[in-house]
Formats: sequence, structure tokens, C-alpha cells
Amino acid sequence: MTGENVEKEDLSGGDDEKLFMVCPVCGSPSIYQALGMIMGQHYKCPECNYSGSLVIEGNKEMVKEIREKYKEKKEG
Ligand SMILES: [Zn+2]
Repeated sequence: MTGENVEKEDLSGGDDEKLFMVCPVCGSPSIYQALGMIMGQHYKCPECNYSGSLVIEGNKEMVKEIREKYKEKKEG
């Protein structure tokens, strides 16, 4: 069995178990659900202009990682 399990809970010892909905590209919590779409869910991120149906639910640590990776990419 291979593949990534997004909902894997292997973070131990953390008290930041609360999940945030963030942008999959830049990790911004400012992502919001665009209304008026007929076909399912659609999200938009004001920070990186991401637009799509995917959104990430992660805890503080996950969000931090995404943001750091995004920053690195952005800065080359
Ligand atoms: Zn974004």
C-alpha cells in the first residue's frame, strides 16, 4: 500500500490539534469559499490568487510548513 494519507495523525506531543482550512499553495488561512458556483466547492485565496476545489485542513504545524515552503519557492 502506497500513497499519502493526508489525514494521518502521526504528530505526537503537540497541543495544536485544531485544524485550519488553508490554501494548498501558500498556506494562507485567508482562503474562502467562493459562492455562486454550481459545480461543488470552489475556493479562492486572496494571497496567491489560487482558485480551485482543493483546500487543505491542517494543524498549526502543517500550516507553518506549507507557508515556509511557499516562501522558499517564492524567493527562489
Ligand atoms: Zn494561497
